[in-house]
Amino acid sequence: MLELHNALKAALDGEVLWQEPMEKHTTFKIGGPSDIFVLPKSIEDLQKVLQLIGETQSRTGVTVPLMVIGAGSNLLVSDKGIRGVVVKIDKSFSNISIEGTTVTCGAGAALSDVSKTAGSAGLSGLEFAVGIPGNVGGALVMNAGAYGGEIKDVISTAKAMDMEGNIIQLTKQDLHLDYRHSVFMEKRLIALEATFSLERGDREEIARKMEDLTERRTSKQPVDMPCAGSVFKRPPDNFVGPLVEKAGLKGYRIGGAEVSTKHAGFIVNVGGATCQDVLDLIKFIQATIKEKFDVVLEPEVRVVGEL
Ligand SMILES: Cc1cc2nc3c(=O)[nH]c(=O)nc-3n(C[C@H](O)[C@H](O)[C@H](O)COP(=O)(O)OP(=O)(O)OC[C@H]3O[C@@H](n4cnc5c(N)ncnc54)[C@H](O)[C@@H]3O)c2cc1C
Repeated sequence: MLELHNALKAALDGEVLWQEPMEKHTTFKIGGPSDIFVLPKSIEDLQKVLQLIGETQSRTGVTVPLMVIGAGSNLLVSDKGIRGVVVKIDKSFSNISIEGTTVTCGAGAALSDVSKTAGSAGLSGLEFAVGIPGNVGGALVMNAGAYGGEIKDVISTAKAMDMEGNIIQLTKQDLHLDYRHSVFMEKRLIALEATFSLERGDREEIARKMEDLTERRTSKQPVDMPCAGSVFKRPPDNFVGPLVEKAGLKGYRIGGAEVSTKHAGFIVNVGGATCQDVLDLIKFIQATIKEKFDVVLEPEVRVVGEL
C-alpha cells in the first residue's frame, strides 16, 4: 500500500495522504485512518488514481478497495478506519455555472452553495437543499431530500466516471433515483457533475423560503453537534423521531453517542464517541423500536470501513 501511496504522490497534482484520520472528514467526527487519502485536483488526477490502482492490482493480484466520499455528512466510519484508497471529491470540483434556468455544478460543490447561488439568480427548486450539509456528489448518490423536495425533482442530467476512467453522461432515468437510492448504489461510478433544471421565481420569495426552512431546521435539529443527520430511513407511514421519543430513548447514551435531546431521529457525538458506541446505540434503538412498535428501522447513515 505504501508503494501505491508513493506512486500516487508522484503522479498527482492533488494531495495524497498516508493514514489520514477519517474523523477529520466526517461530520460525526468519528473514524479511524484511511490507508491512502486522496484529494484529486482534476479529472486527470482521478483517472490516474484508477489507473495506478489497476496497475497495483495486476502486479500484486490483491484487490485495492476504493471509496469516494464528499463532505462525509452521511458517513459512520469504523474505528479501524478504511483499507485501501479514499478519494474525497471536494473544492477542486466545485464549479457552479448558470445558463438560463439550468444550473450545472461539480460534484464537490456544497449543496447549500448551489441552492443559494440558484436562489440569488432568481431560480427556484433547490430551496429544500439549503440546509443539507453535503456536497452535490453525495446528494446525488443519496438522492438527498428535505421538506417535501428531493434531488430527483430537479436533476436533469449528471456526469460520472466509471472504473476504467471513462466519463459517461447519465440521464435522469439512468440515475434510478428513489428514496435515498440511486444508480451509484448499484454500479461503481464516481459522480462528477450534476445539472439541475429549475424554474424562474421571485428572488425575495425564494430567500424567504430558505430562511424559513433554515429556521425550522435549526430549531428542531442538533445542527451544532457532530452527527450525520437522520440515522434511520423513514419507515412506511411512520416517523423515526416520534417513535424513538415514545420509546423513552431521547437522551439515551452509550459511551459518547447520544440520542439527540433535540431530535430523537439523530444520534450525536457528545464527545469522544467511537464508531462502536454509535453502532451499539443504533442496534439498541432498532431492537427497542421493533419490540415496542413492531417497526423495523433501517439505517440511512452509511456505515463504512473495517469493522
Ligand atoms: C446536520 C445534518 C443534517 C442533514 N439533513 C439531511 C436532510 O435534510 N436530508 C438528507 O437527505 N440528508 C441529510 N443529511 C445527510 C447528508 O447531508 C446527505 O446524505 C448528503 O447528501 C451527503 O452528502 P456528502 O457529500 O456528505 O456525502 P458523503 O457522506 O461523503 O457520502 C455519502 C455516500 O455517497 C458516496 N459518495 C459521495 N460522493 C460521491 C461521489 N462523488 N461519487 C460517488 N459516490 C460518492 C459515498 O461513498 C457514500 O456512500 C444531514 C446530515 C447532517 C450532518
